[in-house]
Amino acid sequence: MKILLLGKNGQVGWELQRALAPLGQVIALDRNGRNGLCGDLTDLQGLATTVRQLAPDVIVNAAAYTAVDKAESEQALATLINAEAPGVLAREAALLNAWLIHYSTDYVFDGSGEDRWQEDAFTRPLSAYGRSKLEGEIAITTSGARAVVLRTSWVYAARGHNFAKTMLHLAAERDVLNVVADQYGAPTGAELIADVTALILRKLDDQHGDSQLAGTYHLAAAGETTWHGFAQFVLSDASRKGIPLKVTAEQVGAISTEAYPLPAPRPRNSRLALGKIEKTFNLKMPPWQQGVQRMLDEIQ
Ligand code: NDP
Repeated sequence: MKILLLGKNGQVGWELQRALAPLGQVIALDRNGRNGLCGDLTDLQGLATTVRQLAPDVIVNAAAYTAVDKAESEQALATLINAEAPGVLAREAALLNAWLIHYSTDYVFDGSGEDRWQEDAFTRPLSAYGRSKLEGEIAITTSGARAVVLRTSWVYAARGHNFAKTMLHLAAERDVLNVVADQYGAPTGAELIADVTALILRKLDDQHGDSQLAGTYHLAAAGETTWHGFAQFVLSDASRKGIPLKVTAEQVGAISTEAYPLPAPRPRNSRLALGKIEKTFNLKMPPWQQGVQRMLDEIQ
């Protein structure tokens, strides 16, 4: 299997380099490209030429514009990277009869209600980032390419900046720490996303690229928490390990979304239904705490 991986140094891209390695030849690119190959999602012509030149069996697109708040003032750039470039990848994949694996987000939903979002639930993004990601999904699903779109949520990884590391840092420095307690979702490790992606590719290969498997799936860890619950989990683990903190898990204040205004509104309910991915690919998503615990062991 020849795999073109884009966005190799992001949280998910980095883990994909590891997880995809046993599947075949992986050509992994970041925005700088290499050997004349283009990995820059703002260069639509360069991307198309690179796909044609390599003729991969699978394109895995882990590159994205992920600066959620900045996207409010950089809508054109977010749309170029999150919607137009995936559209080009999908069209090139269709021409080659290659598979496209792409990642999307819980931010395509408006966060209303308390039920878990099914894959076919109505979408209504609240932010420019969410809109750009939804446009990317639409560009892919209308391209005619065989594609798997994996919507995930609250991604963290040992490598890169993330919420858990920020909480550890703030709890060591500050006297008071308040965290939003009315947004619900599941922290999902880049490791899990990458491993599940590899399992999906194995199944596609085993089933000779059965087009019935194409579609949108929700890929998140099992269970749910709030950002406040996530912060408490991280800080109690740190205390157990003897890391000195000024703010303990019990002292983290629970605040409302309104008390922490940000340029881009966030969905309150980011609970993703996992039944479709579990059933189709015969998987069982682990509880979110498991991956977070592993990541904390790694970074501490
Ligand atoms: P990261 O921000 O960690 O990685 C994104 C990668 O895309 C970075 O390596 C970045 O490179 C690269 N990139 C940005 N612009 C370009 C460009 N013009 N050309 C090429 N590469 C570019 O994101 P994640 O790994 O967390 O996200 C993976 C996927 O999951 C994305 O599709 C994202 O939308 C989705 N997702 C993420 C969530 C999260 O909480 N992070 C939640 C839900 C979904 P550089 O470092 O050089 O900027």
